[in-house]
This record gives sequence, C-alpha cells and structure tokens, in this order.
Amino acid sequence: MYKAVIGLEMHCELKSNSKVFSSAKNSYSQIPNEFVRPVDMAFPGTLPVVNKKCVKDALKMSLALQCTQPEYMYFDRKNYYYPDLPKGYQITQMESPVGVNGCITIECHGKEIPVYIHDIHLEEDAASLDHYFDTSCIDYNRAGVPLLELVTEPCLSSADEAVAFLETMRSIYQFCDVAEGDTKKGQIRCDVNVSIMEEEDTEFGTRVEIKNVNSFGGVHDAIEYEIKRQSELKKSGRYNEVEQETRRWDEETQSTIHMRSKVDAIDYKYFVDPNIPKFKITKEWLEEIKKEIPELPLECKHKYMEKYGLSEYDAGVIIKDKSYVDYYEECLSLGMDAKVTSNWLTTQVLGEVNHEEISLKEFFITPTRLKQIVDAISKNTISSKQAKEIFMKSCEEKKEPSTYMTSENTQMSNEEELNQIIKEIMDRSVTQIEQYKNGKTNLFDYFVGQVMKETRGKANPVLTKEIISKYLN
Ligand code: ADP
Ligand code: MG
Repeated sequence: MYKAVIGLEMHCELKSNSKVFSSAKNSYSQIPNEFVRPVDMAFPGTLPVVNKKCVKDALKMSLALQCTQPEYMYFDRKNYYYPDLPKGYQITQMESPVGVNGCITIECHGKEIPVYIHDIHLEEDAASLDHYFDTSCIDYNRAGVPLLELVTEPCLSSADEAVAFLETMRSIYQFCDVAEGDTKKGQIRCDVNVSIMEEEDTEFGTRVEIKNVNSFGGVHDAIEYEIKRQSELKKSGRYNEVEQETRRWDEETQSTIHMRSKVDAIDYKYFVDPNIPKFKITKEWLEEIKKEIPELPLECKHKYMEKYGLSEYDAGVIIKDKSYVDYYEECLSLGMDAKVTSNWLTTQVLGEVNHEEISLKEFFITPTRLKQIVDAISKNTISSKQAKEIFMKSCEEKKEPSTYMTSENTQMSNEEELNQIIKEIMDRSVTQIEQYKNGKTNLFDYFVGQVMKETRGKANPVLTKEIISKYLN
C-alpha cells in the first residue's frame, strides 16, 4: 500500500446574464451558435468588456474560501492554438488571481479535513467542438462563458476525499448563489492530478494529470484506477516509467489513456491583456461583498444537528444541494416537525425526485403539500404506511395529498371515541377479562381484534393497545 497524493483543478461555470467579456447571453442552448456576439468569435476590431457581476462573484468565492485578494484586478492572455479558441488565446488570470492561499474544511467518513487552495481565478471558457463521422462543427455558445478555476494544493489522499471536496465546493457555489453547479450540463469539469509515494518518503512522486473529467463518479474512478496503475508499476520496480504526463479518463473502458507527455508541455507565453484596463479592488467593495456570503454548508449541517437533532447522515444529505436546503427551510418555516420532515425529505421525497429524474424545484409535492401529510401523521389521523401510499398516489395523480385523506381511509385516533368503543367491548366481555386475569394473556389479541372488527380496521393500533391495557390492568 502506497500513499496517494491528489490535487484538483476544478472549473465551474458562473451564473450571469451575459458572458464574462461580451454582451452575449450566458445560457446553455441546444441550438448551436445561438448566443454569440462578434467578440466571442474574435472578429477584428472587437474588444472585451469585463462583466462586473462575474468579478464580484469571483471575489465572493475568494472571500468564502478564505483566500487573499489582490489589490488590483487584471487579466492575462494564455496563448495557444486550437479550433475552439478563435482569438488564439484565452483570457485568464495567471499573475494576479482573484484569490490565493485559501482553505476550506470538508468532511469525509466523519473526519474533518482541511483542504488548501493554491489559487482561484476568473477566466473565459472556450467554444465547444462537436465531432461527427467525417466533419467537426464548432459551437460558440460556450465561448466566453465565465469560468472560475480553483486549484488545490496536493493535499488530498483518496478518491473519497476528492469527491467529498468537489461535493462541498459545489454546495458552496450554490449557497453563495454564484453557480448552478449542474454536472449533467457540464458546468463542472475537473483536471485530476495523482501521484503515489512510500509512507516515509519526503518527496512527492511524479504526478499524472487526468484532463477534463466531467462527473464526480468519473473523478472517483479515475483516481482509483490511477492509484492502482501506478502502484502496480511501483511494485514491479518500473515506477521510473511513470513520466509526467497528461492522460484522459475513458468512460467506456473505465481506464485512463495517455494523451501527451508533459516534457513537451506548451509554453503559453503569458502576458497581461492590454485590452482590459487594470482596476483597483477597494476594501469597501470587499466588505460589501463579504456581507452577502451566507451560512456555508458545513455550518448549516452543524446547525441542523445541534438545533434540530438530525442525524449526521440526514443533515449531510440535506446540505449536499442548495435546493434541498431551501426545501427543508421552507418546511420548517411552515412549522413542520424538523425530524419527521428530514426523514421524509431524505427518503421519500429525494427517492421520488431521483426516480423521476427531475430537480426538487420541479417536484409536485411542494413543502406545502408535504405539510398535509406530515401534519396528518403527527395528528395520528393516518399511519406511516398510509402516508407513504398517499404520497405516491399524490405524485402519480398530481392531486393534493389531502384529497386522499377521507374519513374512509384515515385512522381513528380520537381517544374519546376509541375509549367509548373499547368500553362497550369490555362491558360485554366479562368472561374473557376473567380468563385474562387468570393468566390467559394471549386473550389481549382477542380484544384488539374486537376493536378492529368494530371500527373496520381503522382504529389506531398503538392507541387501541394503550386503552385496552388500561382496562385490563
Ligand atoms: P498544470 O499547469 O500542469 O496543470 P498546475 O500548477 O495548474 O499545473 O496544477 C498543478 C496541480 O497538480 C495542482 O492541483 C497540484 O495540487 C497538483 N500536484 C502538484 N504536484 C503533485 C503531485 N506530486 N501529486 C499529485 N498532485 C500534484
Ligand atoms: Mg492544469
């Protein structure tokens, strides 16, 4: 067993009306080249204009991750040629990123782990290429979409930690309201760096970079695969064959495949983009932005555990996605029981949402509708089994849960009413009571059966047993 060393480069698309240096709409579209302005295609004479909202959101993340912010904001050109990059360079930040030296705490298998952030910088995305049988097409919709790239120090040590980090980061982006973080739409992409070393080694091994992994599952599997591949080389004494290289994750074969060696790494000839004036980031502006940073996921999790007594697991599930937290908070504001609601949210609700492959925001059972069910359980008018049936029916038929709670199918939980019925049964069961008291205790079920017969199975069983016990003892 060797020690694994992992560092991540996480790219996340930011939310904004327009692109980061152009007035084209920043939005995903099925129709190629729908949201394009001349500057996105590098037409001569066009100039970039910085989107203030994107800069502000980048600074917000920088502050949320406890980074140091630069005094001045400016951008660099990263020069290389590729068909998806019409300018021949990407506008990014190299010398003076929006944030450096940050740190966040993540939780993995019940342990808190600090993750150190090397830097976080604002840049533009490239266009996308669609490859067909003998043709490739360029879609400029993505050209100029704001990206925040976050580079961690090589401080992670397993695939699980890497995924925990990415999940935490995604919720932080969502909590800060700067990104949707939808991996299904390709809004988060990662480069994964992996090396291995002996426990007692003082120097890191040679890292292999796996480019552009676009799902968290892919990140997990690529890391496990790479650790295994490198370990086998090391075991067989061929570790010197691990060269600093770039590989890619191949979903189909579930393996990493060599792309290029880092020896012939491109020299990007970075220089400050002269078309974008540098501007000062004032202390006042930073103070203002800081005020907009909400409670972050981990703080939220601890609040749920301490204030509402949720289990670590349930609290952990809820904070995984901002939309879950919004849903839960709305339930609480409707006065619903914190624990019962969390049980329902983490099992029935999310189960059905995943099953229907929709987002929680689109789900028919809104907090107000869930309240009808949860309240009925609290009042004992329906059993938890019935509640689940009503929930499913309501999902299927898109009708209010309350429509299924008629007197026909709800439980009889009125204590007085039940007491009256049981009293009558007891009054006419003198012999049975006598036998029960003489040791025939299994007659208890006989009494329960009588009550169920009388109420056509609607009597609340727990309450029924309680009342019968009172009569017998
Ligand atoms: P590049 O331009 O080659 O991608 P960067 O400096 O942008 O280089 O990224 C380096 C990434 O590799 C960082 O995430 C860092 O944590 C990680 N890294 C550096 N050295 C190692 C190593 N020995 N093993 C694993 N990861 C490493
Ligand atoms: Mg890189």
